[in-house]
Amino acid sequence: MERSYLFRVLDQLIRCHRLSSTNIINNSLPRITLPQKMVQKVEKAKERKELLALQKKRRSTFKSPLVISCKREQFNHHKGQTYSGFDPKILASHGWKNKQSAGDHFTLVPYSQNPALEGRNHHPNFTDFELHAGLQEGLDQLGYTEPTHIQSQTIPAILEGDDVLCAAETGSGKTLAYLLPALEMIHHQKQRLSGDHPPNCPRAIILTPSRELTDQILDVCQRLCEYTDIQPYAICGGRGTKHRLAWGEKANMDILMATPGVLRKFLGAGLMKSGFLQHVILDEADSLLDDSFSSEVMSILQKLRVTASSGHAAAGHRDGTQFTLVGATIPRGLEEKIGDTIAVDSLHRVTSDHVHHLMPHVPQTFLRLKPSQKAETVVQLARTNQQKGLPTLVFSNRSETCFWLSELLRENAVSNVLMNAVIQEKRRSSLFSRFQSGETDVMVATDIASRGLDLLRVHHVINFDFPPFVSDYIHRAGRVGRVGSHTPGQVTTFITKKWEVDLLWQIETAARKHQALHNVNANIKRKISSVIARKFPHRDVY
Ligand code: AMP
Repeated sequence: MERSYLFRVLDQLIRCHRLSSTNIINNSLPRITLPQKMVQKVEKAKERKELLALQKKRRSTFKSPLVISCKREQFNHHKGQTYSGFDPKILASHGWKNKQSAGDHFTLVPYSQNPALEGRNHHPNFTDFELHAGLQEGLDQLGYTEPTHIQSQTIPAILEGDDVLCAAETGSGKTLAYLLPALEMIHHQKQRLSGDHPPNCPRAIILTPSRELTDQILDVCQRLCEYTDIQPYAICGGRGTKHRLAWGEKANMDILMATPGVLRKFLGAGLMKSGFLQHVILDEADSLLDDSFSSEVMSILQKLRVTASSGHAAAGHRDGTQFTLVGATIPRGLEEKIGDTIAVDSLHRVTSDHVHHLMPHVPQTFLRLKPSQKAETVVQLARTNQQKGLPTLVFSNRSETCFWLSELLRENAVSNVLMNAVIQEKRRSSLFSRFQSGETDVMVATDIASRGLDLLRVHHVINFDFPPFVSDYIHRAGRVGRVGSHTPGQVTTFITKKWEVDLLWQIETAARKHQALHNVNANIKRKISSVIARKFPHRDVY
C-alpha cells in the first residue's frame, strides 16, 4: 500500500517535472529536479504493471487446464498457451532474486500420463521377442507382460547385435531394456560354446556408478535368471577389496555387475578375464563418462579391449564386443570421450521424445524461502508425511548438511536414515535397506541417491538444497513418478539463493515453452568446476 502510494506521488512529480522542464524554456519558471534513477525505476514499475494487467486479462480467457499454478495468479500458465516473443518478466520466479519475494511459490501441475507408458497398445508383447523359455518364465514371475515405450525399441536393437545408445526419462524401464536382450544373447553364447567355462570370465559386464545401483541390478538379474542356467555376479568396492584381491577371489559368472574402481583393480590384478566377453553395458552413462569416473571407465574399456564394431551382427555372432550406453540424460561430447575406442557415429540411438524434459505427470513445487525458513519448513513437511505414512526423500548438496539435517529431523521426532559418500559402503547398504523395507519412512541423502535407484515407495522428494545442475534436478525428481511407483509422487524444491534462481529460470522457461531443458549434461561440471569448487568445497563426488 505504502509502496504504491509512493509510486503515485513520484509519478505526479515526474509529470510536474516534465511540465516545468518545458516551461523553463518558455517562461523561466522554477525548476523541479528529480534523480534520474528514481524516474527510471518508476517508469519501469509502471511498464511492468501494465504488462501484468495485460497478461491477467489474456489469461482469464484461457479455458484449458492449468499447467503452472502460481501464488500470484496473474503468472498462471495454461495448457496450449504460447507467448509472442519471450519476456522473462512473465516468469513467476522473475523477481525471486529480491529478498522480498520470500513466501512466493508456484507448482508445475501434472497434465498428462507417464510418457513411458504412452502408446502401449501399439507395442509388441514381451512374447513377441521370442526369448528363451527360462527367461520368459522369469519375466512372467516378475509380472511384466507389456514392454514400456523404451523397452519396445531397445530390446530388438540389442538383439540385432547393434551397439546402442539408449536415453530415456527416469524410471521408464531402462534396466529391463538392456538386461533382457543381454541375457538372451548370453544364453545363445552358452549354447554355441558349450563346454568348460572358467571362473572370472564374464560374458557380459554392466558398469554402474554406485554400489546401491549395482545391488539393485543384481537383484533384478537374479530374479530374471531364476529359471535359466545363467549366473549373475556382482563386485563392489569397499573395505574388503584388498583382501579379496590378495585372496584371488574366484567365482563362476556369466554376467557381472560392478562399479568402475573395483573392476579396474580386479582387471589390474589379472583376476578378471575377457576371453568370453561379448557385451559391455554402461548404466547411468552420463555419470560414468563424467570427470569423476571417465578415466577409470576408459582404462577398463581399454583393458577389456572393447572395440565395438561398426554396423551390426546377428544375435550372438559378432566379432568385437557389443557396447550399450544407457542413461536418463545423453552424455555430450561422446566422440571426444570414447571416440578412440568406439565408433560413436555407428551407435544405434534409441531416445525417447521426453528425455531432458520435466516430468509431465508429477507435481513439482518451488518455494521461495528465506534461508532461516528452510529448517522449519523441511521439518514440517517431513513430519506431516511421516504421520501420513508417506515415504520421503530429502536431498542436500553436501554430506555435512546431510548429517545436520538428519539430526535436526531426529530432534523433531522424525526418524530417518542417512545416505552420503562419507558413510562406509556396507553401512550405507544396511541403512538403504531399512528405508526400502519400510522400517523408516524418511531418508536424507546427497546426490549419491539420485541416480538410477528404483525407489518405488518414495512419495515425496524434497530438495532442501537446490541442486547445482539441471541434470541433478532431473535425476532427483525422477525418484518419484516411476513406472510401477506405488504412489503418484510429488517434488518440492526450496529456493533461497540468487544462483538458484538462475537455474530455476531455466526450469520455469522450459515448462512454459514446453521444451527440453538446456545444458542437461553432467560433464558441464568440467567447464564450471572451478566455480562449483568455490561454492561447494565439500560437495560429494560419488
Ligand atoms: P527402471 O527405469 O529400469 O529403473 O524401471 C523402473 C520401474 O519400472 C521398475 O520398478 C521396474 O520394475 C518397472 N518396470 C520395468 N519394466 C516394466 C514393464 N514392462 N511393466 C511394468 N513395470 C515395469
